[in-house]
Amino acid sequence: MNTIQEQIKALSEELRQHNYNYYVLDNPTISDYEFDIKLKQLQELEAKHPEFAEADSPTKRVGGEVTKNFETVVHEHRMYSLDNSYSKEDLLDWETRIKKMVDGEVQYVCELKYDGASISLTYENGMLLRAVTRGDGTQGDDVTANVKTIKSVPLKLKGNYPPKFDIRGEIVLPFEGFNKMNEERIEIGEEPYRNPRNTASGSLKLQDSAEVAKRPLECLLYNLTGTNLGVNTQFEGLVLARQMGFKVPDAAKLATSIDEVLEFIDYWNVHRRDLPYETDGVVIKINNLQQQDELGYTAKAPRWAMAYKFKAEQVSTRLNEITYQVGRTGAITPVANLEPVELAGTTVKRASLHNADQIEKLDIREGDEVFVEKGGEIIPKIIAVDLNKRPIDSQPTQYITHCPECQTELVRQEGEAQHYCPNYNGCKPQIIGRIQHFISRKAMDIEGLGGETVALLVNEGLIGNYSDLYELTKEQVLPLERMAEKSAENLIKGIEASKQIPFERVLFALGIRYVGETVAKKLAKHYKNIEALSQATIIDLVTVDEIGNRIAESVVDFFTSEENRQIIERLKHFGVQLALSEAVLANQTDKLKGQTFVVSGVFETVSRTELKKLIEDNGGKVSSSISSKTSFLVAGDKMGPSKREKAEKLNISIISEQDFLNFII
Ligand code: AMP
Ligand code: ZN
Repeated sequence: MNTIQEQIKALSEELRQHNYNYYVLDNPTISDYEFDIKLKQLQELEAKHPEFAEADSPTKRVGGEVTKNFETVVHEHRMYSLDNSYSKEDLLDWETRIKKMVDGEVQYVCELKYDGASISLTYENGMLLRAVTRGDGTQGDDVTANVKTIKSVPLKLKGNYPPKFDIRGEIVLPFEGFNKMNEERIEIGEEPYRNPRNTASGSLKLQDSAEVAKRPLECLLYNLTGTNLGVNTQFEGLVLARQMGFKVPDAAKLATSIDEVLEFIDYWNVHRRDLPYETDGVVIKINNLQQQDELGYTAKAPRWAMAYKFKAEQVSTRLNEITYQVGRTGAITPVANLEPVELAGTTVKRASLHNADQIEKLDIREGDEVFVEKGGEIIPKIIAVDLNKRPIDSQPTQYITHCPECQTELVRQEGEAQHYCPNYNGCKPQIIGRIQHFISRKAMDIEGLGGETVALLVNEGLIGNYSDLYELTKEQVLPLERMAEKSAENLIKGIEASKQIPFERVLFALGIRYVGETVAKKLAKHYKNIEALSQATIIDLVTVDEIGNRIAESVVDFFTSEENRQIIERLKHFGVQLALSEAVLANQTDKLKGQTFVVSGVFETVSRTELKKLIEDNGGKVSSSISSKTSFLVAGDKMGPSKREKAEKLNISIISEQDFLNFII
């Protein structure tokens, strides 16, 4: 029998290889299920024997580290921008310039220009040391904790590697994952994200790395940077990067003339549609590193590289009608209904117009011939009106003043782009949307009840708000369309079971504007029950960690409504959890209120995760980096010397695991 340490090592190694097969090679050799089982095994072993957990264990990929302020890091090698070209002539001019400046044959490497967020990864002795955003090119933000959760980023390298180097790449969000994230957002009544690029860069700046871990991000690498890399050309650099375990797309191609470069561009201008992620052009680089050196940099970009931008695909078509949609929160979205037209391989019938300002700015009118473009967005957008083709009898668009669903007069708050229907409890799409949110997976997770049935129940007048669900009987739902004996029973059972859903999820389910999952957790923890929360004032609310004015106002508004108060009373009456359970409360104290802890190293009696939970359960805060705001550094075995140094420099008390446990007894 192997020792525990050997088992942990072997499992870690195996999982690392599976991650690599799946995320870098796109070629998994075991099922997701088998992978999960093995990961769980490793987690359990590590929890029991934290002393053997490897620093780069695959279990670390799930995140958990929370960063409040991203530390600014100066790039050792500046991250430049790229010069752009838009035509064959531009490229030929560039070639002429290059040939005047360097000696000998010139070869080019053609790569795709991935549209995401640029990142610089630093490796030392084969281990990922740091991940920093481009920032202003000279300095960026340290987002290491978040980047570690991206499975295609190797934490530990394979084969032979230079002792120290940086590697540059792009963090992208493939379409499939992006669409899935948006489906989930729409399901809970939130605005979908606009495009994968912004969502990818936004993800890097999330404070909770566990949230980042849930996002299907990928990291595509394209440049090794540093000295003594052991390669002489860009192309060799890509090969080496691939051998070390990085994801380097194999579209990259060596070209011996500008004509071959142009062939590459023509090919990908069409075939990029088949790629799983967004690209916005091609990057052409001089292959020979010696020549790159000779060419050097301008103030802004390398002379040895050139981006060629694809033209965004555009068509013109007729705008037949502007219609208006009402969302769960009452937000109104104007939609352009277009004469169907082919664009970038799909038929486009509709485009979002976003809001009244957008319509006014472009002076978009029904009957206009409009230019539609598809860029990073999934939903195409209208970028201009062809004024030459405007019908003579055309009239400016009058934005609606009343809700298309319930005829209530719309409101638009100062500083907000969107119009809202204020008829919170009487507007059908809002009522239905709110109940759909209430029953959704991350909220009350009511099995046996789907979004369409909710709409039916509301339309049949069987329910008017989510508290009515708890009075439904099997006899009432049986006559509904597509409802059989068994499904009716399941529906009622599912509703009954939701009474066990814990308070923080109920709070999220209520659908208070701006109260998402994380905010709901914070509020539940702080106020402990709905009475206390309903009595909280704005001043009181904003003292809670991470609760700002906007959320505070929305919470107060919610509880000011008499109707909402009655609905809450009814939920309480039916036995829905409106307070933290005794079991949870029993473990919670205020003993560490106002104290911030940094946890580092390996511990004996509790795991690192448990330790963090203990801190939070006792009212303290966990931070990932030491600053003047840190109250204590809890030091375990094998704590990094730099953390200790920093704590000593800032005069922060360093305590042991036992000291800490004594605090909270
Ligand atoms: P721009 O932001 O338009 O100046 O373009 C420069 C950016 O393109 C770089 O910062 C990279 O993030 C990005 N990029 C995407 N793909 C590549 C690639 N294959 N080589 C170099 N840069 C790339
Ligand atoms: Zn309405």
